[in-house]
Amino acid sequence: MKNIEIIEMLETEHTAQKKELIQLIATISDSEVEILRKKAQKCAVKHFGNKVFIRGLIEFSSICKNDCYYCGIRKSNNNAVRYRLNKEQILSCCSKGYKLGFRTFVLQGGDDGFFTDNVLCDIISTIKRLYPDCAVTLSIGERSRESYRKLFDSGADRYLLRHETADNDHYERLHPTQMSLENRKQCLYDLKEIGFQTGAGFMVGSPYQTPEILAEDLLFIQKLSPQMCGIGPFIPHKDTIFKNEKSGSIRLTLVLLSVIRLLKPNILLPSTTALGTIDAKGREKGILHGANVVMPNLSPAEHRKDYSLYDNKICTGEEAAECIMCLSKRIKSIGYEIVTDRGDYKETGEVD
Ligand code: SAH
Repeated sequence: MKNIEIIEMLETEHTAQKKELIQLIATISDSEVEILRKKAQKCAVKHFGNKVFIRGLIEFSSICKNDCYYCGIRKSNNNAVRYRLNKEQILSCCSKGYKLGFRTFVLQGGDDGFFTDNVLCDIISTIKRLYPDCAVTLSIGERSRESYRKLFDSGADRYLLRHETADNDHYERLHPTQMSLENRKQCLYDLKEIGFQTGAGFMVGSPYQTPEILAEDLLFIQKLSPQMCGIGPFIPHKDTIFKNEKSGSIRLTLVLLSVIRLLKPNILLPSTTALGTIDAKGREKGILHGANVVMPNLSPAEHRKDYSLYDNKICTGEEAAECIMCLSKRIKSIGYEIVTDRGDYKETGEVD
């Protein structure tokens, strides 16, 4: 099959074979990227119009028991500055965010043992009581099924857990032996079954990644069929073993955003901070390639630089209000607008 036929099949049938995905990823030309982009953009516009959903990201702990080799807040990084927000600080982020128009709060952090089920359920139920019109998204790593169930029952709506890579050997090269792809995938299936709107995802250009592995990532997304998918370029962090590795490329990240949009037309697909970090116009380009979500930072300004997953992360010196104003302008500049909608996943449905 020619690349152009693969792109057409993605558009009309929302599927492709592994072999074809590998070929597309490895050999797509610049003019084909543009054809793919237009189809993905058209598909996103068909489902979401020119609207971009916003999620307020609250990075509430930089303390982590895990040691993922690529991550700047991994346990064994002694240079990382560790902080943890208390309930009042988290609520104050929500209060600020609510006034700025956010109707989704994403609580993200390291796998921090302080946040037991009881502590988290109290925080979640308080947010839901104070802001009943808002969605709460969690992004706090692997937990037991019982724990996920308790968090869901206390009111959490969504959960982001990137699978990171769908290839076992690759997973092992990025994580210490205590962690496994099998467990990560099981968590994703549990989350979905419990009823969370669930997000999987992966880094683009992580060390040892190949087109074949990326094709597996795409097929895993197709199989799991999550409501959300977070992808962004890998960016090295100076205090990790991957400090001398290259960042993932903007081009490949954009291609994959478009492919994911066509594979799953109604998926919630963020244009990530990492994309904005490797390219000054990265987030705008992400939207033009089929993404439909942005996640401005609501974390307290004094802690931003300490949630350092990778080097040179953008927006670490700004207040939440500045971030949202800057992003609104950027989104407007490409003919889109930010909406203050909860922005839930919809099974089907297109805008009129
Ligand atoms: N502890 C949570 C949140 C992890 S941080 C969890 O385990 O899910 C959120 C995401 O940041 C990770 O899933 C990973 O894909 C991404 N990330 C971490 N280090 C990165 C790096 N060096 N470059 C790009 N993305 C990175």
